[in-house]
Amino acid sequence: MGKKVIIDEEECMGCEACIEIAPEVFQFNGEKAYVVKEDVSDEGLIQEAMDSCPASCIKIE
Ligand code: SF4
Repeated sequence: MGKKVIIDEEECMGCEACIEIAPEVFQFNGEKAYVVKEDVSDEGLIQEAMDSCPASCIKIE
């Protein structure tokens, strides 16, 4: 099974950093980020988003 990217929405602060880095993966619902593309095709990009997330709530599993 491929890797999936998930966001712990409880922890998300809605800073939109991840959306700026990877808008094809993350979108904003007006309050929090959510995942629009679960399948990890570019792990480096996801890693960059993870590193930029102040709440550390983006995970790959
Ligand atoms: S970077 Fe983290 S805290 Fe900011 S919107 Fe994305 S998931 Fe939420």
